[in-house]
Amino acid sequence: MTFGTGALRGTPGVVDHRLSRRHLINEFKRGRLRQDQVCDAHPELIRAARNLGSPASIACPICGDEELRLVTYVFGARLPSHGRCISNAEELRKLNARPDELTAYVVEACVGCKWHHLLRVLPVGRSTAKVRRTS
Ligand SMILES: [Zn+2]
Repeated sequence: MTFGTGALRGTPGVVDHRLSRRHLINEFKRGRLRQDQVCDAHPELIRAARNLGSPASIACPICGDEELRLVTYVFGARLPSHGRCISNAEELRKLNARPDELTAYVVEACVGCKWHHLLRVLPVGRSTAKVRRTS
């Protein structure tokens, strides 16, 4: 499996990622989901979390042993199909100045148990300057 938006759990278009995250954690705690069903991060995501991720300052909701790390990927025209992993704010500023419509995915990941979840999907670049119509 190649890395891409499909490897990020959470459905783009679902506005409240926090709600689906909480639901998943509750289902795991109730024993309705096994750990290997919720801790299945792509190896590429775990590598990025370890090397480029920023500390989320909260413990992993599944194993409780590791601090979660936040990873931001940007997808869009003239970027690699597996997205570009953003390691600092300056890089994001540069992408934001591009004329292209790009999308940033902010993901939390645990390098210990491989829990991961999409937190936010944000427009980057040109699209941030205009109002998006939903209809
Ligand atoms: Zn964990």
